[in-house]
Amino acid sequence: MNLVFLGPPGSGKGTQAVRLAEKLGVAHLSTGDVLRDAVSKGTELGQKAEKHMTAGELVPDELIIGIIEEKVNSGELSKGFILDGFPRTIPQAQSLDQMFLDHSMSLDKVILFKVSDDEIFRRIEGRAKIEGRADDTRDVIANRLDVYRKQTQPIENHYRQASKLVEVMGEGTPENVFESLVSATS
Ligand code: AMP
Repeated sequence: MNLVFLGPPGSGKGTQAVRLAEKLGVAHLSTGDVLRDAVSKGTELGQKAEKHMTAGELVPDELIIGIIEEKVNSGELSKGFILDGFPRTIPQAQSLDQMFLDHSMSLDKVILFKVSDDEIFRRIEGRAKIEGRADDTRDVIANRLDVYRKQTQPIENHYRQASKLVEVMGEGTPENVFESLVSATS
């Protein structure tokens, strides 16, 4: 099963991706996790990405597309995958389409997590207290939501037109969301 998880920051897609990847026995690839790891190790990628991440902006497409290309080329995704946090722009979605064509791979579904803005602020502020992420302050959250609307939301239509988009209500308990997710992907 080859899936993309799409949704605003705080929509719970990361938590659900870990759980579903385990159930399906597929790879879970979070570009946010890859970047945070690179920042904490101080790699070249991390140094280039850090200022964008702390401002709540997107990291330049070419850096992110490079990460995904590496994973696709390595065969790590060949037993199925959940892409969590990628693609986030139209050029990223187009590059992914091309990579899949080149590797005779295809996407089964794109799961869109629907959550209201009020719920997003409540969740991210809660997470900030627990994890202390540098990009979880109120101003940065507002910017990340704005970036989502302007740069990421247009890809909903890209996948809707390809008949890949499936919507899952992301509010409610994690268990309820997981049940909806399982039925949406089976
Ligand atoms: P996330 O954990 O998915 O919310 O990602 C945290 C941050 O990493 C984002 O706010 C962006 O700065 C950066 N990031 C993660 N994935 C991408 C992507 N596909 N394109 C651009 N920036 C990304």
